[in-house]
Amino acid sequence: MERIVLLGGGPAGIAAAKMLGREKPDWDITMIRPERASMIYCAIPYVVEGLLPPDKVCKSDSLVTDSGVRLVIDEATRVDFTSREVHTANQGSFPYDRLLIATGARPLLPPLKGLEGARKVFPVKTEDDLLAILKAITEKTRKAVVVGAGNIGIEMAQAFARRNLETVLIEMAPHVLPALIDADMAAPVEARLREIGIDLRTGLGLSSLEKDDQGIVRFLVLSDGSSIALNEGEGRSDLIVVSAGVRPNVEIFEGSRLHIGRTGIVVDSTMATNIPGVWAAGDCCEYRSFIDGEVAGGKLATNAVPMAKTAARNMMGQTWHYQGFLNGAATVVAPIRIGGTGFTEELCRRKGIDVITGRGETTTRFPIMPDATKVTVKLVFGRDDGRLLGGQVLGGEAVAERVDLLTMAIKASSTIEDLMNFDYSSQPWQTFFPAANAVVLAAEEAWRCKASDSEARDTA
Ligand SMILES: Cc1cc2nc3c(=O)[nH]c(=O)nc-3n(C[C@H](O)[C@H](O)[C@H](O)COP(=O)(O)OP(=O)(O)OC[C@H]3O[C@@H](n4cnc5c(N)ncnc54)[C@H](O)[C@@H]3O)c2cc1C
Repeated sequence: MERIVLLGGGPAGIAAAKMLGREKPDWDITMIRPERASMIYCAIPYVVEGLLPPDKVCKSDSLVTDSGVRLVIDEATRVDFTSREVHTANQGSFPYDRLLIATGARPLLPPLKGLEGARKVFPVKTEDDLLAILKAITEKTRKAVVVGAGNIGIEMAQAFARRNLETVLIEMAPHVLPALIDADMAAPVEARLREIGIDLRTGLGLSSLEKDDQGIVRFLVLSDGSSIALNEGEGRSDLIVVSAGVRPNVEIFEGSRLHIGRTGIVVDSTMATNIPGVWAAGDCCEYRSFIDGEVAGGKLATNAVPMAKTAARNMMGQTWHYQGFLNGAATVVAPIRIGGTGFTEELCRRKGIDVITGRGETTTRFPIMPDATKVTVKLVFGRDDGRLLGGQVLGGEAVAERVDLLTMAIKASSTIEDLMNFDYSSQPWQTFFPAANAVVLAAEEAWRCKASDSEARDTA
């Protein structure tokens, strides 16, 4: 009987456990994870806001055990790749024939002056982080500072604002959501964040923390020398949340034969590592962009799950290949839904890719229908071959669905002309009039741009 060990109980570990358990009921499959419960991380901000009770974001273990997988609550401390054994902190060792490493990533706390020993500075990931944040918010809390305005930072800042805390959101990049959208698309999002009372400071990093001898943070000093005062007054309980990136959980493999790159465990397209019988999937891995094959950021659950399914299929002897990160993702600054996929125009410029862009605007429903709101689509095409490289969407409804459509279009190597010819559906409650579609309008604008380029070249 094959002995399988799955290290980690996040989305990657669970996806692999479900597939292996279902398709190989006679295999001996063990999942090892340290935490009491697997978490629905994406919903943590909505618990902080008070919309959901904390237990709602704990997944049921039956997700794993119903597939016949044995669940061990423990932490792996070492893997002996020669004897094929996983050693744990408390329950001894677990031999394996095939191992999947899905140890994920944890929030990065930058090495800032004054951070060590500072109280009420929280990362956002685990159940403990969530409970600590909830406990830190008392009737003496006035202010919350969020460092990093990616998806998590944006959602946490809104959660604090909804709890009537004075909320400051700091972002080092020139605009919010820098990995997802360009500055022009970020502008209405920033306006909305300010409108709901968030003190947004972009283009500024956190330089240091000034704390008293009890570790209570008194000032956050920013990169322009300005500062944010915290905990002013007797017994105040202000808090700081840092959501400024993640690092892979690979420390237990340091010094071993396992090949680890700058952003995680190196795997091939079958998710196999350099060690026979060992696969890795999810946030603990380093992987490449679907678009240009370069190593890329992509620590998302929506990448972790297909990576894990690819690994599980290959562990069962099938041949499957993971095609790379597109990084389709979405967030909300109510009432604006925001999404993006592929490369932004700004990323293309940093990579030296010459692009043509186009924007299209319609409404979410027929404009004559109740509650129709604006939808904006921005498309980014390679200037040389006219292929779609990325897309961004803002709108009141169906944003993630449009992002997914654009992801498929990138995967299908669609060009400007393909998207101009895109066949869409139309219905008064669900789309704009049949006369137009925001994706088609954006492609048409890009096409006009391309046409005027060639005209200029012809007359030159
Ligand atoms: C607040 C928040 C919101 C998010 N929102 C979204 C979203 O909207 N959409 C999206 O796609 N992604 C989102 N993400 C990212 C997403 O949660 C991660 O990409 C995803 O969890 C990665 O899955 P994973 O299984 O690879 O790793 P993880 O979920 O990190 O799981 C790793 C597992 O390995 C375990 N582990 C680590 N070390 C050991 C060890 N030594 N021994 C045994 N087990 C170990 C961990 O305890 C954990 O169980 C969000 C993340 C956060 C924190």
